[in-house]
Amino acid sequence: MPIIRAQSSPDYVPDSKFYKVEAIVRSWRVPLVSSALLKEGIRGVTVSDVRGFGAQGGSPERQGGSEFSEDNFVAKVKMEIVVSKDQVEAVIESIIKEARTGEIGDGKIFVVPVSDVIRVRTGERGEKAERMTGGRADMSATA
Ligand code: ATP
Ligand code: GLN
Repeated sequence: MPIIRAQSSPDYVPDSKFYKVEAIVRSWRVPLVSSALLKEGIRGVTVSDVRGFGAQGGSPERQGGSEFSEDNFVAKVKMEIVVSKDQVEAVIESIIKEARTGEIGDGKIFVVPVSDVIRVRTGERGEKAERMTGGRADMSATA
């Protein structure tokens, strides 16, 4: 299968120090994505079971005037990963590499600016709260 990369990175708008990479992917690809992320020092990840529809959702059915029925929803997993701006593209690349089958329904990635990060345990904010001990920033500092 050919290697697909995200097209060249844009200047994210609005500009922010942190972004949330929100990826809706096939459930059975999640272990592959999360172990790739862990290997590159991405240690903070949130996942949830979600349902939705995109191109894979099948042709819309008319039922009681509504354009789709609940049966059209497909189960997926949403992965949410908050990282500093310079880590966004690496996270996107890993997700594409591990989650892509090339078939309709591989999912979608949204990049969302994040105003602040607060660590509940310490009250730290911003960079201090976003950094993880042994995380990607530490790994590249010692490389
Ligand atoms: P502490 O050092 O106090 O444990 P921590 O930064 O390691 O702080 P946790 O308290 O372990 O954070 O995080 C709680 C939950 O928050 C995690 O289980 C995960 O779901 C979510 N989470 C933490 N960091 C991130 C992140 N950067 N991106 C997405 N989700 C995160
Ligand atoms: N940016 C953090 C770091 O380099 C990692 C963030 C994350 O694991 N989601 O420590």
